[in-house]
Amino acid sequence: MVFRVILILLCCWSFSVAEMFQSVPEAKATLIQSGKEKYSCPNCGMHLVKFYKTSHTHDNHQYCSIHCLYEATQGVIPEDAKVVDTITLELIDVKKAFYVVGSKVRGTMTRTSSYAFGLEKDALSFVSENGGKVMSFAEAYAVAAEDFPKEFGKQAASKLAPITKIEVPKDAKCPICGMFVAKYPQWVAMYDGDKTFYFDGVKDMMKYAFARKIGGDKLYVSDYYKLAKLEATKAFYVIGSNVYGPMGSELIPFASQEEALSFSRDHNGQKVISFDEITEAMVKNL
Ligand SMILES: [Zn+2]
Ligand SMILES: [Zn+2]
Repeated sequence: MVFRVILILLCCWSFSVAEMFQSVPEAKATLIQSGKEKYSCPNCGMHLVKFYKTSHTHDNHQYCSIHCLYEATQGVIPEDAKVVDTITLELIDVKKAFYVVGSKVRGTMTRTSSYAFGLEKDALSFVSENGGKVMSFAEAYAVAAEDFPKEFGKQAASKLAPITKIEVPKDAKCPICGMFVAKYPQWVAMYDGDKTFYFDGVKDMMKYAFARKIGGDKLYVSDYYKLAKLEATKAFYVIGSNVYGPMGSELIPFASQEEALSFSRDHNGQKVISFDEITEAMVKNL
């Protein structure tokens, strides 16, 4: 019986790994970090073998993606950075790499996918199969910058009255995607039941809640502008906007319907919904 369960778990695991283009067998991955941090992106905590093909190194750290490298360097172009060649799986100098940006092959941590190649002909043949555009590292870095909302700085400055936020332990990881949650304060969501779990967005919280049939009264979200802790059932959510969370498209929560509507207008939102209108299918398709 136990063996059977393990077998089923193994099958699920290998399927989920197999369907990700970024993943490689561990023996083929070059990992430059050591100790217990060897396998995880220091910026987001994700597994580096699982997201190997988009991996970048800089200053003895290894990141899962150009997105995390951008965030860690705060957008300064790192001189020593290397990237995985999608074909040979070797680490190569980013300045010599040909990046294919915006292909239909899903990227890591970013909506605009980005894969690097040592040879221009390999990049071009990837484009002919999957679309996208060949760019230099500097150009790809500029595209990665688009993941970060322009209002981010403004929001931090506009905290007026003291508010109650969801306090996230520094080492808390999202049970759905494995990311460190404390790094993304404006996206924090929480399940506070017999155990407490933190999520890097409403989407992952709802995936968790639907899978375990958890009621809305134990769920909390953060107001996107003020970061205030809200009861999930009382918030208003913008879907389909051009603002992305750490895991891509999100349900973005607001304390009032007015604020949600105005955000939705400013950011090409598809619509504003209440908690009861969130469905499992909607969350899966985000
Ligand atoms: Zn990362
Ligand atoms: Zn997550």
